[in-house]
Amino acid sequence: MIQHQSPQIARPKLGVALRRGLLGRCPNCGSGWLFSSYLKPVEGCAVCGEAYGHIRSDDAAPWLTILVVGHVAVPIILAVEGRTHWPTWVSLAVWLPFVFALTLAFLPRAKGFLMAVLWFTRAPGSERD
Ligand SMILES: [Zn+2]
Repeated sequence: MIQHQSPQIARPKLGVALRRGLLGRCPNCGSGWLFSSYLKPVEGCAVCGEAYGHIRSDDAAPWLTILVVGHVAVPIILAVEGRTHWPTWVSLAVWLPFVFALTLAFLPRAKGFLMAVLWFTRAPGSERD
C-alpha cells in the first residue's frame, strides 16, 4: 500500500510543486517520475511513496494543451503565412507536423501540471471519492 504523504519530506510550496509536475516529476519530492509511460500516471512515487494513482485530470490536460498550443501556433502560422506565398501542400506539410509536434510535446506537461495542481490542493479529481 502506498502512503498518501511521506512523513520524511516537507510539503513543497505551490510553485515548486507545479514546476515539478510540469517537468513530469513527483510534485512532492521532485526526484521520482510522475508517469510510467507517455500519459499513464504512476500509482505512487518510486522515491517518496506519494500516491498519484487516484488523481484524475480527465480532459483538463487536452483542454489546456489546445489552449496553449493554439495560442503559440496560430500567431506563428499567421505571421509566416502573411510573409510567404507557399503552395497549400507546402503549408500543410510544414504546419501540420509543427502543430502535431507541439501538441505531443505539451500534452504530458499539461497533464503533469494539472496533476500537481490536484495533488497540491488535495482535490479528489476522482469520482471514486
Ligand atoms: Zn516523490
